[in-house]
Amino acid sequence: MKKRLFTPGPTPVPENVMLRMAAPIIHHRNPEFMEILTRVHEDLKYLFRTTQPVVVLSCSGTGGMEATISSLFKQGDKVITVNAGKFGERWGELVRIFTGNCIEEKVAWGSAIQPERLAELLKEHPDAKGVCLTHSETSTGTAADIQTLTALIREQSDALVLVDGITAVGAHEFHFDDWGVDICITGSQKGLMMPPGLALVAVSERAQDIIKGQRMTQYYLSLKHALKAHAGDDTPFTPAVSLVIGLDEALQMIKAEGIENIWKRHESLADACRQGCNALGMKLFSNSPSFAVTPVWLPEGVKWSAFNKALKNSNGITVAAGQDDYKDKIFRISHLGFYDELDMLTVIGGIERALKEINFPFEIGAGVSAVQKAFLGN
Ligand SMILES: *Cc1c(COP(=O)(O)O)cnc(C)c1O
Repeated sequence: MKKRLFTPGPTPVPENVMLRMAAPIIHHRNPEFMEILTRVHEDLKYLFRTTQPVVVLSCSGTGGMEATISSLFKQGDKVITVNAGKFGERWGELVRIFTGNCIEEKVAWGSAIQPERLAELLKEHPDAKGVCLTHSETSTGTAADIQTLTALIREQSDALVLVDGITAVGAHEFHFDDWGVDICITGSQKGLMMPPGLALVAVSERAQDIIKGQRMTQYYLSLKHALKAHAGDDTPFTPAVSLVIGLDEALQMIKAEGIENIWKRHESLADACRQGCNALGMKLFSNSPSFAVTPVWLPEGVKWSAFNKALKNSNGITVAAGQDDYKDKIFRISHLGFYDELDMLTVIGGIERALKEINFPFEIGAGVSAVQKAFLGN
C-alpha cells in the first residue's frame, strides 16, 4: 500500500532531495562540500528574509531552541514565554532550566496571544530580557500575528524577540529583518521537505552582540560556536553532511517556486482543507488557523483509535493525533512542505473512506467536492 504522510513533521521528502542524499558521502573539509555549505548559508537568508547569519545545527528543532536560550541568557535573566500549546510550553521549560526566571503566559489552546495582553505583560515586566513566541503552534494548529507582536515588543521594550518558526517558516509570510525579529528557528523535517536532523537558526545583529558577551553554559549547542564558524562558511563540528546536501537541493526547489508563491500555496491548501472538513460536518479547532496544519474536532461518536486505524490500515494515511488534554478529541491534518492541491483531495477523500468504514453518517463526496470547489471555483 502506498504510504501517505500528513503529519506536521516529519513531512514528505521529494525524490530529488532523497536522491541527492543517496550519493556517496564526501568529507566536510572537501571544497565540494564547502561550496555546498556556502550556498546553503546564502539560500537560508532568502528563506528567512534576512541578511543576517542563519546557522545550521545538527539536531532537531528543539536543539535550536535550547541553543538559543542557553546562548542568549544567563542565570536570573527574566524571560517572558507564551504558552498556547505544547511548543510554547517548551520555551518555558527551557527558560526555567537555563535562567530560572520565567514569566509564563498561558493562553487557551486553539487561540493565539492578543497584542493587548502582551503589552500588559511588557508593562508589568520592564526588565524582561526576552520574549519567546511561537509563530505556528503545531499542537493546536494556531498561528500568532508575529509581525504585530514583534512591533509591539520593539516599541515597548529592549527585550529580544525569539520566534519558534518551526512549522511557520515556509508556510506563513515571515520577514526576519523587516519585522525586527532577533531569533527565528526552524527544523529540517517541517516546511523544508527534508528528513529530521537539522535546526536552522537566524540571529539578528543585536542578538549576535549579546551572544558574544555571554559565558558559555553549553559546548555543543552553542550559538557562539556556530556563529564564529558561520563567518567562515564553516561549522564548528562535523555537520550532518548528507542532510546539508539534501537541504541544498530542497532550497533550490524553494527558490525555483519562490517564497511568496510558497506562502500563497500553503494558505490555499489550508483553506481547502478547512472547507473539506466543514463539508463533512467536522468542527475546526482553532480560531486563528495555521497554514501548516489543520486541527479538527473528532465528530461526536467517532473514536480516535478506530478512525485512525481505518485511515492508516485501509488507506495508508497518517494524520497526527491531538496532544495532552485533546488526545482523543482532535486530530491534525498537515499540509506543510511538499504538498499540492491533489494531496488535499487525497487526504479528505481518505477521511471520507475512514468515516464510511466506521459507519459515521455523512454525504459521500461532500468533503472532496468542497475541496474541488475551493480550488476550481463553483
Ligand atoms: C516540531 C516542532 C518543534 C520541535 O521540533 P523537534 O524537531 O521535534 O525537536 C518545536 N516547535 C514547533 C512549533 C514544532 O512544530
